[in-house]
Amino acid sequence: MAIENNTESWDYAPSLEGTSHIQLKKKYDLFIDGKWVKPKSGKYFASINPANEEVLAEVAHANKADVDLAVKAARKAYNNVWSKMAPSERAKYIYRIARLMQERAREFAVIESLDAGKTIRESRDIDVPLACNHFFYYAGWADKLEYAFPNRKVESLGVAGQIIPWNFPLLMAAWKIAPALATGNTVVLKPAETTSLTALKLAEIIEESGLPAGVVNIVTGFGDTGAAIVNHHDVNKIAFTGSTAVGKIIQKAIAGTHKKATLELGGKSANIIFDDAPIDQAVEGIVNGIFFNQGHVCCAGSRLFVQENIADKVIRKLKQRMDSLYVGNPLDKNTDIGAINSKEQLETINKYIQIGKNEGAEMYQPKCDIPKKGFYCAPTIFTNVAQSNVIAQEEIFGPVLTIQTFRTVDEVIQKANNSPYGLAAGVWTDKGSRIFNLTTKLRAGVIWANTYNKFDPTSPFGGYKESGFGREGGLHGLSGYVKLS
Ligand code: NAP
Ligand code: MG
Repeated sequence: MAIENNTESWDYAPSLEGTSHIQLKKKYDLFIDGKWVKPKSGKYFASINPANEEVLAEVAHANKADVDLAVKAARKAYNNVWSKMAPSERAKYIYRIARLMQERAREFAVIESLDAGKTIRESRDIDVPLACNHFFYYAGWADKLEYAFPNRKVESLGVAGQIIPWNFPLLMAAWKIAPALATGNTVVLKPAETTSLTALKLAEIIEESGLPAGVVNIVTGFGDTGAAIVNHHDVNKIAFTGSTAVGKIIQKAIAGTHKKATLELGGKSANIIFDDAPIDQAVEGIVNGIFFNQGHVCCAGSRLFVQENIADKVIRKLKQRMDSLYVGNPLDKNTDIGAINSKEQLETINKYIQIGKNEGAEMYQPKCDIPKKGFYCAPTIFTNVAQSNVIAQEEIFGPVLTIQTFRTVDEVIQKANNSPYGLAAGVWTDKGSRIFNLTTKLRAGVIWANTYNKFDPTSPFGGYKESGFGREGGLHGLSGYVKLS
């Protein structure tokens, strides 16, 4: 029997990552002015493990008055300490945070997997190392800003309000905090409601690093906590990563104010496979692009475009690969697809799967043993998809892929760009000239060639169109936090 038709697979014995080395408090207060402060309302909410629905810890719900306290602490730290400190001294604190986080990498990885539902393989190999690397990278820039912006006077902005989503909780905190500190700003950060725990662990590390009180403040809560940061009169900059819907609310709220903003929003990115592509690698790239992190990736390759003459082969190979994916306990090192982050998100994904079926698209899901408790979704593909279908237009934010075909380069450029979003794209082909042609014509902030979902702190990231504006990462990531004259 030819290997590619061999669909037999073997079950691996479970290989669970231990949890005995992690330390979680039962209850977390707010981290304001270098101290742990009770929320003024006295209210706490539960952070659960989406893999089994058990409560991990209680987390404080910050209201307007708590946010005001945090902004005041950040302002005081900015005026009295941080803006006056020599940049090389600021760098030492940022390095220290990076090193402390690296020392506790395993604890961070396990807590991230428990709280967010993402696989341990990913939190251990991607989220945590990349978060450390962001701190290392921006520590290096702190005393070299005049080289980043030659012949310009570089000034910090003041207090940065930062609001982050639940798909890469620690990594998004690092993307936000590291460049803000390197450029001399102070911070009030709000993690997402379902994934506050690694940001709170980061607060513990910040405490341990001896960073002056008030330079970083972490306030947990819901959307109203985020809105209180956005609307606070003494915040100079809003850095937001999240949905396009909330991004629009924020843009309206700060219109006409002095506040500077960077918005990293949603996506519906195209992954394009030409007939001269290395097919097996491309199939891995498709799997990595959409099933990785349960599809909870803003730049997920959620729209696949395959050249018509290889479509049958690619789809057959993709289905075979999907049959071998493990869906289940995020702490098992064999797991490929962990838990969906929340019940609400699972309902949203299931709603879109139903819409896809109603629209007449053809669905394929492998048979997999899905745990009874917790929130899980099997990897899903839709073929027979029309460009106008809702599932090909709207962000699903789950392990759901739409597949369309194309014949010519111009056709696929037109189809890929036919989206309100423009965050990322992938191109698979043997021809360098074709890659260059597409990179100039695809309206997307990041374009990967013969790979997908690769990140590096030195490389800028951000969107076109409704995927937002401003760049994070790399030298470009500094410009959102400075005033140049
Ligand atoms: P979301 O609902 O927009 O929430 C993002 C953050 O904003 C959360 O901390 C949320 O708090 C807070 N928030 C909610 N309403 C707010 C308001 N009115 N004012 C201020 N803050 C408010 O997004 P999500 O569901 O957490 O994340 C998924 C989305 O993020 C997807 O669309 C994805 O594409 C996008 N994303 C983009 C990037 C990028 O770099 N472009 C990266 C990652 C994710 P609560 O959690 O408490 O509601
Ligand atoms: Mg949670």
